[in-house]
Amino acid sequence: MEWRDEIWGRLHKDWDVIVIGGGVTGAGILAVAVRLGLTVLLVEKGDFGSGTSSRSSKLVHGGLRYLKNMQVQLTRESVMEREHLLSVAPGLVEPLGFIYPVYKSNNTNPWLIQLGLEIYTHLAPDVGKYRRLDKIDLGLMAPGLRAKDLERCFYYTDAQTDDARLVVRLLQDALSEAKGNALALNYCKVTGFLKQKERVNGVQIEDTMTGEKAEVHGKIIINATGVWADELRSKVGGDRRLRPLRGSHLYFKFERLPVYQAIAFSHPDDCRPVFVYPWEGVTLVGTTDVDHLFPLDDEPSISLEEADYLLRAVQYVFPELDLTREDVISTQAGVRPVISKGKKDPSAESRDHAVWNEHGLLTVTGGKLTTFRLIALDALRKAHKMDKRIPAPEDSLHIFERPEPSPSFLSELEPTLRRRLLGRYGKKAYEIFLLLRDFPSPIEETPYFWAEIIWSARNEAICHLDDLLLRRFRIGILLPDGGIGLIPKLKAQVQDSLDWNDEQWAKEVDRYEQILEVAHGLPPQWKKRGRS
Ligand code: FAD
Repeated sequence: MEWRDEIWGRLHKDWDVIVIGGGVTGAGILAVAVRLGLTVLLVEKGDFGSGTSSRSSKLVHGGLRYLKNMQVQLTRESVMEREHLLSVAPGLVEPLGFIYPVYKSNNTNPWLIQLGLEIYTHLAPDVGKYRRLDKIDLGLMAPGLRAKDLERCFYYTDAQTDDARLVVRLLQDALSEAKGNALALNYCKVTGFLKQKERVNGVQIEDTMTGEKAEVHGKIIINATGVWADELRSKVGGDRRLRPLRGSHLYFKFERLPVYQAIAFSHPDDCRPVFVYPWEGVTLVGTTDVDHLFPLDDEPSISLEEADYLLRAVQYVFPELDLTREDVISTQAGVRPVISKGKKDPSAESRDHAVWNEHGLLTVTGGKLTTFRLIALDALRKAHKMDKRIPAPEDSLHIFERPEPSPSFLSELEPTLRRRLLGRYGKKAYEIFLLLRDFPSPIEETPYFWAEIIWSARNEAICHLDDLLLRRFRIGILLPDGGIGLIPKLKAQVQDSLDWNDEQWAKEVDRYEQILEVAHGLPPQWKKRGRS
């Protein structure tokens, strides 16, 4: 792959900042560092966003439930970031209405929920307050939603995004702004550190595609490896601080579970919050919060208990839809990097981020997708304390530019598509627009067009088929067969751009099918037992 050789040839300089990890945290740090005029190298051992940042609930939110744990500061910051992202990244971050029914059987005091919503909506007063819904509103807004035992019902707004696309958009905008002063390389693992007088000043890296190795120096080395952070910290003597907590989701066909806003409710088993919401043409149900005791490098997958738990939740709240495991089209599990405070209940652990300096290795972990900008600012402030050649960022440093009025060339597009393309691709939307003239068809019932996937195969650092079908686009989780039926057409459209011969193509399809089965399939016991 020529583009990889080209990047590999430019690695050898003394970088201001080396970022390890290409999830939302690493991508945010790269973006802020570029804004500060620094030279930055980011290396990611898998694909960009392939860790937790493509497996989240995709909500850009304050986290109403964090108020219950008295994390008011985290909630306030998250709400402010949500508002900011809605204003600068429309089409990528979109508002989402939430209906919150409280049932008698929930054992929850509706006054407390109302108080929580009062505080929550007060944190961003411009957005408007929550309001109460009656049974008539509910019947119109969420047909089929359980009305029995309903004590009270509320409505408020938050937002949602495509998490993996958010990561790529952050990287693409930053790399084009940096004009050669920043590089980001996927499938490149940090295997060890270089030190001078016991202080980390560089990394040993290995290209996981070719096995090629190199050593690269930097003024500041930032470990943004999320749930893997302890692994790298242990190389400089760090103790274990993270508690990996898995959260899983079920994806349903929209026709079987048609919701037009999110439904937030308490699970009938344990009163944990569960959400059901529309996303990219399907309906998502999540999530869980359980200790993840498997090797971190194995693809995380939903357990039988989690799948049953989520199905019970949705059956409870939509009793008339007669939903069964056969209505589930795919699943997804991700592992949260949570800093352990030793709480018994996983959901009681704080979702705050932390930054630690250990022998010159700056580790940034924990936190949320929503607050990636604040986490990046915090990391670079700490970097400034360690090395005054790194400027300290201002609080007001913004990553995405407020969009200009739509460029006139896009005016012939339907407004929703125009907004979506600008949100997902920023300034590159023009290139997709040109391709849309030749490839105007949508890809089955997904929100994507062939023009997008063809452009992505040519331009978005695709090394494996799963990069294309699971992260740049979410076809693998949106279509019931993971999009396997599309493969022949896809081959005809992108094989040349990817420069894979037939043997390589076949290997990629095998790899993709295996990942689908392990990470996005139904629990094996569900397949055996059939309907429930
Ligand atoms: P990651 O995305 O995991 O990135 C770390 C990267 O480091 C990985 O890609 C990994 O491959 C790479 N790496 C590891 N070791 C090395 C190495 N040696 N060399 C090079 N690279 C390496 N937040 C929200 O705001 N809203 C939500 O709705 C939400 N829902 C969630 C639901 C679930 C189920 C989960 C699990 C999390 C959720 N979160 C949510 C939290 C959010 O997803 C995470 O906080 C965030 O994605 C973490 O990003 P990260 O970049 O720190 O980690």
